[in-house]
Order: sequence, then C-alpha cells, then structure tokens
Amino acid sequence: MVLTSALPNLVSLEIEVADPLAETQRRVVGVDVGQRYLAVTASIQDGASFYSGKQVRAKADHYARLTKRLQHKGTRSATRRLMAIAGRERRLKQDCNHLISRRIVEKHPQSIIGLEDLTHIRERTKRKHGKCASKKQRKANRHASKWAFAELHGYIAYKALRSSSMAVKVDAHCTSQACPRCGYTSPTNRPNKGLLFVCQSCHYSLHADLVGARNITLRTLLARQDWASTGSLSVTPDVSSDEAKAARRLRYAELRWSLDASPQL
Ligand SMILES: [Zn+2]
Repeated sequence: MVLTSALPNLVSLEIEVADPLAETQRRVVGVDVGQRYLAVTASIQDGASFYSGKQVRAKADHYARLTKRLQHKGTRSATRRLMAIAGRERRLKQDCNHLISRRIVEKHPQSIIGLEDLTHIRERTKRKHGKCASKKQRKANRHASKWAFAELHGYIAYKALRSSSMAVKVDAHCTSQACPRCGYTSPTNRPNKGLLFVCQSCHYSLHADLVGARNITLRTLLARQDWASTGSLSVTPDVSSDEAKAARRLRYAELRWSLDASPQL
C-alpha cells in the first residue's frame, strides 16, 4: 500500500507501508489528549504512560499572554514582534507534538492506536467566565494558550504507519464520564471536575485522565474485534445516522476494563 500524507509544512510525502491486517496489529493502545496532561496512554499489556508537557505548556502560555499585550499596542514594531512570537509558539508546539507522538509510537509497535474523534473537542474545553466559573474552571482558564491536539493526532497517525501500527478514531462521547469497571456513566463521576474519577455506583476510583484513556482503549478493542470478525476496519466513528450512533453507544456501555475479560490478543 502506498500512503500519501500531507503534513503541515511539507508538500507531500509518500511512504511504502504494509497493508494492515487484523493478525499483525495485535496490540491496542488508547490515547487521551487534554489540558492537564497533553497525552495519557493506556494499554492492557503495557500499562499507562503520562505525557505532561508542563514546561512547554507554561512557555506557550507565556507566548499567548505576550501576544495579547502586543496586540493592544498595535505599533509597527509590536506587529513585527507578534509575527516572530507566533512562529516561535508554533515551532514549540510542533516540536513537543513530534516528541510525544514519537514516544507513543515507539512504545507501541504493531498496534492499533485509538484516538478520540476530536470534532467535539471545543465543547469539552469550553471556557466559563464570570460568577458561574468554579475555582477549578478559573484555574483551567489560566491556560492562555490552546494546544494543537489535532496536529498531535495527525503526527501519531502518520508515524504509526512507519512502525507497523495504525491509528483509528473512536467516538469521544462520555469517555471521561463512563466507569471502566461497571459502566455507570454520569458527570457526577467526576466530583468538582477534579483529578480523581470516583464512580458514584461502584465507588471505583482512578486518575480521571487514565479513565479517559482506558475507555478509548476499550472502544478501540471493539473496533479491532469488529475488524477481525467482519474484515473491515472502521477508522472513524460512523456518524451517518442517529441509529448508528445510538447502537454504537449501547455497545460502548457494555465495555468493561478487566484483565480477565479482555479478548485474547
Ligand atoms: Zn463503576
């Protein structure tokens, strides 16, 4: 199979890769991206990894604040500095996304790498202002910069192909609210939208970002199982009808994170 990929800043690139097969892509890993950790991965065989990016995040926030100040000035020299800062900020994020994607892909060769369909990511990171904003939200708002998650996904998908892996997108619906142990799904499973996930039904508790990554892994496992049984791999969630969406979410509700119950890989 010849794969053509248009990466940002590259005209086009062609690489020769082997056709993916359900037999060769034996492992599954889920990747959650977000504000606290740029990426968290969960896999049944290799456990979890957290990619913090705290320092680059602070630097990106610094650039974003500087940009805001310079925009207010509006002088010609301010404009020149703005352009330079924009370039530096873009390169900073690109370098970090390259690094994270490379580490994830190198750690998970011959895998199906599950990513969230980010179409609705804006909904999840919507900012609240004023009186209604909780303490936690005001803290989150301190992130002056937006991270380029779509770019990070793109890099992972591209690099995956070079190590006999392949990225697929899964439905992002409620990945942070569903209990991976009992399936109970509710926003109250994240008390105060905090760091800890606490299932209000079975009291299972875990780092909230790891819950997201595990749910993505489970959904990716489902896609892989369907691939093995039907011979066709769905690389993005089917959004053609409400019925398809509802049927998929019913199947998601049956998924459980348990080492014993995991399908033989
Ligand atoms: Zn539970």
